Order: sequence, then C-alpha cells, then structure tokens
Amino acid sequence: MKGKEMNLILLGPPGAGKGTQSAALVERFGIPQISTGDMLRAAVKEGSPMGLKAKSCMDSGALVPDDVVIGIVRERLAKEDCANGFILDGFPRTVAQADSLQATLEDLGKELDAVVSLEVDADALVERLTGRRICKGCAKGYHLRFDPPTIAGRCDLCGSELYQRDDDREETIRKRLTVYQEQTSPLIDYYRQKGLLISIDGMRDIGVVQSDIATALRIS
Ligand code: ADP
Ligand code: ADP
Ligand code: ZN
Repeated sequence: MKGKEMNLILLGPPGAGKGTQSAALVERFGIPQISTGDMLRAAVKEGSPMGLKAKSCMDSGALVPDDVVIGIVRERLAKEDCANGFILDGFPRTVAQADSLQATLEDLGKELDAVVSLEVDADALVERLTGRRICKGCAKGYHLRFDPPTIAGRCDLCGSELYQRDDDREETIRKRLTVYQEQTSPLIDYYRQKGLLISIDGMRDIGVVQSDIATALRIS
C-alpha cells in the first residue's frame, strides 16, 4: 500500500460477501466501512426525505438515483474518521457514480489504493441472499447455514433480534442480480483499466476469502 492510507472499494454482486469482508477489514485496519445500503436503510427507518425517496427503488430491487447516493458518499468521505482510509461497500454501482467518486477524491486530496472484486456464481448468490439475516440493532449480517449466530435469531455482538431484509426474497433477488449485470459489472473493466482491480475468489469459505484479501492487499 502507498503511504499509510488504505482507501478501498469492495466490488461484487449482491450476496458476494462485501459486507462480511468489510467488517473483517474494519477490525484489521481500524478504518470505517461506508455502506450505502446500510445508510439508505437507516434513512428509510428514520423516515427522512431521502429515505422516502429511496424506499420504492430499494423495495423493487432497482438502484436509488445516482445523485442521492453520490451526495451521501461525498459527505461521508469528508469526515475526520476517513483520514487513514475507508472501505466503500456497495458504492460505486454505476459508471456515473465511479466518475463522481474520482472527482470527490481529487477534491479531498485522496486516492484509491485498490478495488477488491469478489467473484461468486449466481446460484451461490441466491442461496446466500435467501439465508441472510441482519441485526436490527447494529446491522451485522449472518447466514442461517454459513454464518449462524450463537443463539438463534439473536445478534452475537449486541443481542438484538435478527430480521430478513424485504429485498432478500427470491423475486427481488433476481431483479437485483440483473441490475448488477447491467449497471454495475462494467465497473470491473473500469477499475481493471485503471490498474486498481484485485480479483478474489469469493466462492471459498468466509475465513479463506478474508485471508486471501489480506494477502492480496499486502503485496499490492
Ligand atoms: P453483500 O454485502 O455483498 O451483499 P454479505 O456480506 O451480506 O454480502 O453476504 C451475503 C450472505 O452470504 C450473508 O448471509 C453472509 O453471511 C453470507 N456469506 C458471506 N460470505 C460468504 C462465504 N464466503 N461463504 C458463504 N456464505 C457467505
Ligand atoms: P446488496 O449488497 O445485498 O445488494 P445493499 O445493502 O448494498 O445490498 O443495497 C441495497 C439496495 O440499496 C440496493 O438494491 C439499491 O436499491 C440501494 N443501493 C445501495 N447502494 C447503492 C448505490 N451505490 N447506488 C444506488 N442504489 C444503491
Ligand atoms: Zn447486533
């Protein structure tokens, strides 16, 4: 890594493990995770104007308009706690978002270090998303089979109840995977051309993916 900042993007389809691996990176490097999905869900829960605007898109599996997410990320990246780095999880998702991110980072005098691309087959994604459960309190993700909590239905970290996201049902999942193919997957080439892409086999166990990412980041 250049310098001491660690400015990362985790890229991959819904269910690839971006949230799971971001949490591991937060622990390892002490830099914040910036999840546009988590921020949008918090806005929906609060009933803020932005939340109201985002909700119908999210429920249908479509993307929220670029200007909405670009605004949130720009504000978030300017905060003090991003001084030593950040992990973008779920952003950018379109070429327009990627272009705007570049402009924002230039304004802030920051630079991306790497884009970690998690590669997972479509069938595995559906299985992961249908079995995913989220903590109501702290938003930590679990999986009924692949990453179950110690006590069924309860978060290991904060004890809150787990729930299934409305958009983690099979019909909406299919739609989200199509949206990913059409609008987000072009970012793989976008970042490969910039020499930033690190491809990781996301089909392996959570712990293996975690150490593969750590190894790739150390040598890049
Ligand atoms: P994303 O943030 O990319 O949508 P998540 O990190 O939420 O994905 O993971 C989706 C689901 O798959 C979660 O239930 C998570 O526990 C599970 N999961 C994540 N990584 C793996 C893995 N390597 N193997 C099996 N299940 C995984
Ligand atoms: P997943 O990784 O499982 O697809 P996220 O939590 O990242 O889920 O996103 C959930 C939903 O929030 C998306 O389907 C979309 O409606 C909205 N969303 C999140 N991030 C973005 C983004 N960068 N651009 C547009 N919409 C977004
Ligand atoms: Zn919790």
